Amino acid sequence: MRFSDLPERLREVSGRIDAAVRRGGHGQRVTIIGVTKTHGPDAVEAAFEAGLRDVGENRVQEALKKMDSVRAAVRWHLIGHLQRNKAKHVAQFDLVHSIDSSRLADAVNEIGGERHRPIEVLLQVNVVGEESKGGYPLETLQAEGERLREFSGLRVRGVMAMAPLDADEQTLRRVFSAARAGRDTLAAVGHPATELSMGMSNDFEVAAEEGATLVRLGTILFGAREGGTP
Ligand SMILES: *Cc1c(COP(=O)(O)O)cnc(C)c1O
Repeated sequence: MRFSDLPERLREVSGRIDAAVRRGGHGQRVTIIGVTKTHGPDAVEAAFEAGLRDVGENRVQEALKKMDSVRAAVRWHLIGHLQRNKAKHVAQFDLVHSIDSSRLADAVNEIGGERHRPIEVLLQVNVVGEESKGGYPLETLQAEGERLREFSGLRVRGVMAMAPLDADEQTLRRVFSAARAGRDTLAAVGHPATELSMGMSNDFEVAAEEGATLVRLGTILFGAREGGTP
């Protein structure tokens, strides 16, 4: 059976997260999001059986297709870049991690307004200014947070961050602690911003030490993705 070692992997990873939280001293609860992108619906079912209740997908179309064939009652997280012309699909997701510009925030707010139910979102921050990645520069978060306070179509629940692929530990800490500060800034201007989505298979322990509440784990749980898809 595929994914038969998932429960074992999950136990091991959970233990490492618990240890990292103790080292970090932030005392937060951490939810593991199983990143099932490129895998079939069977990965989602296996995740549910193993005890996970949250799954992450980075492409809208792929996620919608999977939602159609999955019966397990999981929470769906959109973790990849969202094009504005696909914003109408955000209502299908329990949390959208990748609000990376004011224009996208405007579009998603409009959808939430039309549905009379705010969309739950995180603002993605781009701490080191990588041009290949979207996201708000950290220094713009306060102003954007103040602007979004007036929006009734979305609820800002926190911040998402991604470290550069080849980051050393010092860079990881700089990115993750900056993201934490960004989350705290959003909370300080009045948002229900309690969440900090950061940490992937290769850096989740540092992220948990720095206060992550949502870690997004693919490879370490489900194995390598086919075709090297990002
Ligand atoms: C693919 C992906 C992950 C998971 O990556 P792994 O290294 O396989 O754990 C996490 N976050 C985002 C945004 C992703 O696209």
